[in-house]
Amino acid sequence: MSKLQTVLHAAFLFDWLRYAHFSGPSNTNRVALSFDDGPNTDYTKKCSIYSKGIKSRQYSFDSGHALQLSEQRPGQFDRIRSAIQVGGHEVGLHGKDLIPTWQDRIFGTMTEEDMAEGLESLKRLSVCSIKLFRPHYGQAGPNILHTQKLGLTTVLGTLSRMIHPAKPADAQIRKYQDTQPGDILIFHDGITVVWADTCILDILPTVLQQLLAKGYALGTVSKLLSGS
Ligand SMILES: [Zn+2]
Repeated sequence: MSKLQTVLHAAFLFDWLRYAHFSGPSNTNRVALSFDDGPNTDYTKKCSIYSKGIKSRQYSFDSGHALQLSEQRPGQFDRIRSAIQVGGHEVGLHGKDLIPTWQDRIFGTMTEEDMAEGLESLKRLSVCSIKLFRPHYGQAGPNILHTQKLGLTTVLGTLSRMIHPAKPADAQIRKYQDTQPGDILIFHDGITVVWADTCILDILPTVLQQLLAKGYALGTVSKLLSGS
């Protein structure tokens, strides 16, 4: 990495720390559930069924995935959209599904125009007002500054609760056992060009049971951050 890149990286990481949200207030029993990489034909609807009793969740959709599903399987896309509206869930903007280079991870992959276009497309497809941005692969860079201009809140989630979605189910379940009040838990209900698998359907029922048994109120990221 050149000296200039190191300086830029440090500057962008500062923005990351300044604007991004890792968790919410810890003086409540609230925990937020967030699902990345959807909408996915195999997983999103099933996740929705598994967590039916839980009123609201947050989905971070890739606008490209949403467009593809809406064109290729319109009926299924409509059912996912209606489950989101009926359940009072929230949709956030995710990012472009591509294989990131190390530069992408540091400097981001989306221009301001890309983000504005993705946001408009996702609003139109999901018929939701979108308030959150969840950077794909937690990438830093100017994405977070574009997000500010677009009036979105950047959510990174609780780093100590992050685990690769294809890791063995028992390792993932153990990880979520340590959940604390105010945590933002990042799950994955889709696959990407880099991650071809997710154990979400194997872990979600057990993880939800554990969280509810501990008395946590589960909801969207926006509700957790606003304390409403
Ligand atoms: Zn992602």
